[in-house]
Amino acid sequence: MPPPLRSKLPHVGTTIFTVMSKLAAECGAINLSQGFPDFPIDERLSSLVYAAMKAGHNQYAPMPGLLSLREAIATKVDRLYGSAYDVESEVTVTAGGTQAIFTALAAVVHLGDEVIIVDPAYDCYAPTVALFGGVPVHVRLGDDMRFDAAAVQAAITPRTRMLMLNTPHNPAGTILRDADMQRIVAMLRGTDILLLSDEVYEHLVFDGEMHASAMNYPELRERAFVVFSFGKVFHATGWKMGYVLAPMDLMTEFRKVHQFNVFSANTPLQHALAEHLRDPANYEQLPGFFQEKRDRCTIGLRASRFEPLACEGSYFQLADYSRISDEEDIAFAKRMTVEYGIAAIPLSPFYNDPPQGRRILRFCFAKQGDTLDNALEKLCAI
Ligand code: GLN
Repeated sequence: MPPPLRSKLPHVGTTIFTVMSKLAAECGAINLSQGFPDFPIDERLSSLVYAAMKAGHNQYAPMPGLLSLREAIATKVDRLYGSAYDVESEVTVTAGGTQAIFTALAAVVHLGDEVIIVDPAYDCYAPTVALFGGVPVHVRLGDDMRFDAAAVQAAITPRTRMLMLNTPHNPAGTILRDADMQRIVAMLRGTDILLLSDEVYEHLVFDGEMHASAMNYPELRERAFVVFSFGKVFHATGWKMGYVLAPMDLMTEFRKVHQFNVFSANTPLQHALAEHLRDPANYEQLPGFFQEKRDRCTIGLRASRFEPLACEGSYFQLADYSRISDEEDIAFAKRMTVEYGIAAIPLSPFYNDPPQGRRILRFCFAKQGDTLDNALEKLCAI
């Protein structure tokens, strides 16, 4: 008999992304569930990886990341957001955004610390807080899926250690604007509350709006881990590459954990990304590229019995299915996959306490035009 185990995460199962992608594969369904592109990466980028391997860049990278990549990152954020981060002490390359979030929480959350999470929230936030002895405090976006500053303010207590933000928001598809950021600045002023700002969809902001980064607000920047993902920028989610920016004191603590967790991220990919990031054209075309897909998805859904909600950013479109069914969302998403050959993500797993009676699915539109058209045809038949 194996020794009895006491789970550190007794209430956690397998992520909904894994569940739905597996079901989609088993059913041969079009997979608009887990968020990943179905189109290839830029060939110049894959050539750069190959060239880096051939040039012998196959051993450990420096622990904080390759200097040339940290420099390219610092140049990019300065160019886009006018934010200066010191490449030596304030930029760290990670094995993806999720690892950056995990490590930041590991570095600063102590037993009993409260961390405010805005539901629906990306599904790694609360379990990671709990793993390090923190207490997730859940507040909700408003019914319109927008940030509710009053709800967050009301959740702050003397034990609040951190606020976790996400803009553009996954799964909601809404963004934070300057007015939201100003309210966040005001509510954190004079407190010891840290900020974790998950900005992995920074380039996927539509309709000419600007990404409001925590970096742009000095009073947020001084207390923030800001998390980014190369997977989202260069259509390579499987590379598991990202980075985190933070002021030196926070970054020192981050690196103490990072060095004993992953130590350093993939070397040849870092060489390739450093080179590719140097040309702003490689990320400047992203809003237009994805807006075209967003439009195709929203317009297509309007012709169906689904009701699309506003999508201001990210590569996710929410849609209400209450005109089709009153089933709860996990059951409906599974049945849609099996019976109609379309997989999407139900929203309830992103809530601590799912709102009763809301019937919403999340569709990923980071797909080729043909994939979207085929999917929309099936959705219109439901
Ligand atoms: N970020 C992706 C999504 O939201 C999923 C990543 C994962 O499967 N862990 O769909």
